[in-house]
Amino acid sequence: MRHIFIIYTGGTIGMVQDENGIFVPFDFELIKKNLPDLSRLDYKLTVHSFDPIIDSSNMTPDIWLEMARLIRDNYEQYDGFVILHGSDTMAFTASVLSFLLEGLQKPVILSGSQLPIGEIRTDARENMMTALEIASTKHNGISVIQEVCILFDNKLFRGNRSFKYNSAKFEAFRSPNYPVLVEAGIHLKYNFEALLYNGDKELVFHDKLDNRVGVLKLFPGIRLETIRAVLQSDVRSIVMETFGSGNTTTDPAFLDLLKEAIGQGKNILNISQCKVGSVELGRYETSQGLKQIGVLNGYDMTFEAAITKLMYLQGEFEDQELVAFWVEKDIRGELTVND
Ligand code: ASP
Repeated sequence: MRHIFIIYTGGTIGMVQDENGIFVPFDFELIKKNLPDLSRLDYKLTVHSFDPIIDSSNMTPDIWLEMARLIRDNYEQYDGFVILHGSDTMAFTASVLSFLLEGLQKPVILSGSQLPIGEIRTDARENMMTALEIASTKHNGISVIQEVCILFDNKLFRGNRSFKYNSAKFEAFRSPNYPVLVEAGIHLKYNFEALLYNGDKELVFHDKLDNRVGVLKLFPGIRLETIRAVLQSDVRSIVMETFGSGNTTTDPAFLDLLKEAIGQGKNILNISQCKVGSVELGRYETSQGLKQIGVLNGYDMTFEAAITKLMYLQGEFEDQELVAFWVEKDIRGELTVND
């Protein structure tokens, strides 16, 4: 009999309204009570609840590491892992877990819901049941899904390609730069060509994150003082969110600030403010200068993947050049190199 490990971290799925009508997390018993079908499944479930359970806006790197350790420690005993998690920061958690858990051969599926499980129109039941079903699916004794994913509204996405795009619809997530991995209708339709296979790799668990990462989101009219404040803050790397296919102003004063920070050993990673498409350094005159001074190419990475990949690489390497080398490489299916 297959055995799935459920990690309950909190989120709307298990929330109730307190006396003031505010949604607060509640324990797993609430989910069990509202999902009697759990006892009808033909696979075994073991539940681990985090203490405390949280709204995912309170997520931290320490909790990410605790989650990853829990998977490492239980990896051999279970066929798959389902993490119940708030949707707000789910894409960050899915991304960071993909980096911490290298060579996964079992599914790690994050899910949650937009309406609590106790509500009549809840999306929690569909999401959780489909996540469990996919997490338990094997072919010839091998897990079909061998990566960290997000299941929401009948779609399974690669975790490090996804972002929360809608806070009002059941369709909360999208991954426009990578195909959907599974569509759940009457049948589960697997997009086999898009799945990661880790062959006979062993699980390599990484145990460190360094969150000295900053963000510079550009806009026309941004002041040089603001840019300087970000670049000169106590960080090792900066994710710079640029226009279109990776473009910025060509103002020499701006480029000089970037050059100065790079000269001090900081990594500046260029990702686009557009949710679809990729950075193409040097395509326009407005990104030519960036390439010349050593700004790094984030290609089509999501913001969530870029931030957590840098935390992971900085945890791995003291040497900034190694961080810079690996951040431009596809290491867990999180980016597509286009040059
Ligand atoms: N605020 C909630 C959370 O992220 C939202 C959700 O679960 O969808 O924990």
